[in-house]
Amino acid sequence: MGEYRKPENQEDLNTNFEQIHPLMDATMAYYASARCLYCYDAPCIEACPSGIDIPLFIRQIRTGNLPGAARTIYNSNYFGHICGKVCPTEVLCEGACVYTEQDVEPVEIGALQTYACDHAIRHDIRLYDLPEANGKNVAVIGAGPTGIACACELRLLGYDVDVFEAKAHPSGLALHGTAPYKITNEEVLDEVAWLQRQFGFRTHYGKRITPPDLRKMESEYDAIFLGIGLGHTRMPPVEGTDLPGCEGAITFIERVKLDPLSAYPGDRVVVVGGGNTAMDAASESARLGARSVTLVYRRSRAEMNAYDFEYDLVKQAGVEPLFHYTPLRILGEDKVTGVELARTHIVDGKLSVMDDQRMTIPCDAVIMATGQSKQTGYFADLDIHVDSKGRIVVNALGQTSNQKYFAGGDAVNGGAEVVNAAAEGKIAARGIHASLAEAE
Ligand code: SF4
Repeated sequence: MGEYRKPENQEDLNTNFEQIHPLMDATMAYYASARCLYCYDAPCIEACPSGIDIPLFIRQIRTGNLPGAARTIYNSNYFGHICGKVCPTEVLCEGACVYTEQDVEPVEIGALQTYACDHAIRHDIRLYDLPEANGKNVAVIGAGPTGIACACELRLLGYDVDVFEAKAHPSGLALHGTAPYKITNEEVLDEVAWLQRQFGFRTHYGKRITPPDLRKMESEYDAIFLGIGLGHTRMPPVEGTDLPGCEGAITFIERVKLDPLSAYPGDRVVVVGGGNTAMDAASESARLGARSVTLVYRRSRAEMNAYDFEYDLVKQAGVEPLFHYTPLRILGEDKVTGVELARTHIVDGKLSVMDDQRMTIPCDAVIMATGQSKQTGYFADLDIHVDSKGRIVVNALGQTSNQKYFAGGDAVNGGAEVVNAAAEGKIAARGIHASLAEAE
């Protein structure tokens, strides 16, 4: 029996998917901010991919200047609220906090960041005045963190901006791919709506831009930014992945985000993979009430890409890990009934499958968290170079090999954190500005 009862209503969902980083109240923020030592050459700033002046915003919270604190955060990161909740702070800012050198709990930087940003959003505080329009326009493809960050920065530089998004909602994986116990849908959508009110970029949701559309846009816009993210889960080459009951982790996690009460995967679930996405899929399966969840990874615990705290969450949810096994076949006729696994070992540093050491786990669902495909077909005819892993190649300005196009986020970095995507969108916006100024 699993740790969680199958949720039947919103109340059950709230219990099973309780926020792991709940919002601070004023008293908590006051005491948490009082712990900061305002370090000179603060290591927490160095560890933040967006370079937020952390001691400054904590001092502003401490002195009651919440709009100032929010402005300090948004000046460096347009996704301040979301990142405060979903960033792996344990390995970034909080992991670098000087307190950790003494084995003392670090300052709660993420929670303080969210506290200040939440204040600005909830009170709809205007933090930015836009400059005169500069007469130039940019199309942003994809309303994920990198696209929205690029749009905000471009608006601050005087550009007219259209954001196009194939889905009905903004925020890309920040909305569709983040575990519900890390942030709620409302929090994600509220921050993007607030950004849109601040910066006034136009959005076109439910509008899938095709390569011919892009060709047309080339004459309509001064520059085009690609924030298209990654594709679906890359299924491993094993028999049976097309059976009902076997799905990619990205699809499963999106189903949980959009309609959790109908996302129950089955009584017995096997999740394949060793990254953070696999941890989310396993933990969410358990929280949806699956009786057993087995996490299968082909290498050892030490070789998993998942962060330690993500693995701890999985263990706390009652998930059973199984290391050194890989799927050979998904079993079943009309639907998944099990998965056949083979033991693996390392020979000369390479993974080797031991065909004669097999086992079968009966199950109702298999969730593959085996990496995401790249969307290289999307820009195949646009003269945009990709590297050997299918990632878009950009220069320091975020510009691709086709000078009209800039790019950032997962399509460039291969899949990183929201904070990295937001930072890259901002860099590309400045790159677009520098490039167009040089061309004049
Ligand atoms: Fe404050 Fe810790 Fe950053 Fe020092 S390292 S400035 S104590 S949050």
